Amino acid sequence: MKWLDKQVLAPVALDEAPVELPTFEHPKLEPEMPLTRLKIRNKIRGYCEDFEIDNDGYKRIMNLLEHEMDKGLGKETNAAATIKMFPTYVRSLPDGSEEGNFLALDLGGTNFRVLLITLHGGEVKMESKIYLIPQYIMQGSGNQLFDHLADCCAKFMKAHAISHLSLPLGFTFSFPCKQHGIASASLQTWTKGFKCAGVEGEDVVRMFHEAVKRRKDIDITCVAILNDTVGTLMSCAHDDHNCEIGLILGTGTNACYMEKLDNVELWDGDDKEPKQVIINTEWGAFGDNKCLDWFRTPYDKEVDEFSLNGGKQVYEKMISGMYMGEIARLVILKLTQEGLMFGGEVSEELETRQRFYTKYISEIESDDEDEFRNTKQVLEEMGIETFTIEDCRNVRYVCEQVSTRAAYLASAGIAVLLNKISKPEITVAVDGSLYKFHPKFHDRMVDKISTLVNPGIKFKLMMSNDGSGKGAALVAAVAYRILQHQRRQLRL
Ligand code: ADP
Ligand code: MG
Repeated sequence: MKWLDKQVLAPVALDEAPVELPTFEHPKLEPEMPLTRLKIRNKIRGYCEDFEIDNDGYKRIMNLLEHEMDKGLGKETNAAATIKMFPTYVRSLPDGSEEGNFLALDLGGTNFRVLLITLHGGEVKMESKIYLIPQYIMQGSGNQLFDHLADCCAKFMKAHAISHLSLPLGFTFSFPCKQHGIASASLQTWTKGFKCAGVEGEDVVRMFHEAVKRRKDIDITCVAILNDTVGTLMSCAHDDHNCEIGLILGTGTNACYMEKLDNVELWDGDDKEPKQVIINTEWGAFGDNKCLDWFRTPYDKEVDEFSLNGGKQVYEKMISGMYMGEIARLVILKLTQEGLMFGGEVSEELETRQRFYTKYISEIESDDEDEFRNTKQVLEEMGIETFTIEDCRNVRYVCEQVSTRAAYLASAGIAVLLNKISKPEITVAVDGSLYKFHPKFHDRMVDKISTLVNPGIKFKLMMSNDGSGKGAALVAAVAYRILQHQRRQLRL
């Protein structure tokens, strides 16, 4: 019997005699409590069953999401909406004519990067460097954060011998922002572990420019601010004209899509052609009004309780890399405490918050089922001294339950956007380490979206490489061209 094959996961009655299965004796289990593998598996399934949502459940989630998105787009309903559906002021997709040298910044999760990008005749050249943002800056003051960003820019420009140049910059700032123009955006709320004082409600481009001015050794003008979802969409649309959705599955999750101006009641820009604008959905906040509480598990609630932003980003916390490993850890810890794994022996690492990394889930699910090489390595890193092959199987089962729900939830979101756009062929650009490195995320999403999307829509999920850099340069190029045009007109 293969435990992990979905087709053999039919319910097994607890009182059924486990004829074909030998008694499972864990070295650490007391002899007077011999549990059969079957009983253990059944109990583990019981602890995990809330992760399984059927198609009707996903359709219900889609209806809720669509309803929340419509509230976000509506003039009267936006103020109270949880999904803000911010218009981005990015109206057209790249056409290959974008040219020039640009700086880009990518801030919004694990790494902060500075990039130098050259666009020429459809070609893109990129150099980049990652800079660390220490924890004390992530949770310090806003001025400290922007001084640090400006300092990293100065170091980067010095290293590339371009300090003397005045370069336009595209700023990929991946936190929920209300945009007031292509180069103006006020932060609504910090997410993903950032919490710098004095930035919420402020224009982050202004704060960045002030930090640049404070140091006097560099001359940078931020001509565009964008979300990483938008960068991802733009970067992919550069090569694929059917691309109208950008999706991030990394530290956090979010998506953007091209919407008709007629549907954007809050649009305050001009209504010239093209009559469309990219909407940054900020869908991570889906569920913040408790509309998803009917399927949240006790593990989800605990992750939320110990986060920096309790009650916020409910959908994101069930999907993205920052939280997925932690959900799995809580399940594994619970199962161990119940004596269903590792002979009931809990390690210090297993009890430590955030210690079970999301990359472990990718490693475990990449394992060859007979050997469990990665799983064994992970368990050793987690300080688990004694475990059986059956424990490895069960750990993998937990990881699969958690990551499959994440992939399916993201799929429900994408199906809503595909149905909204409703064109015969649509490409979805995807970026983020969770999507890139998890061995089955892509396939599970394709399967689930296929069952949820309206008939007549063909879709493709396309990995977008370095959207936050290339996409930022593409948006900056268009914004810079418009800016120069306006300056020329003023001089005339
Ligand atoms: P960001 O979203 O911050 O721009 P990434 O796209 O690199 O950055 O995503 C980082 C997140 O991806 C981390 O939170 C981490 O949990 C997750 N991650 C990193 N490596 C892997 C992996 N091998 N498998 C699954 N998730 C991963
Ligand atoms: Mg990123």
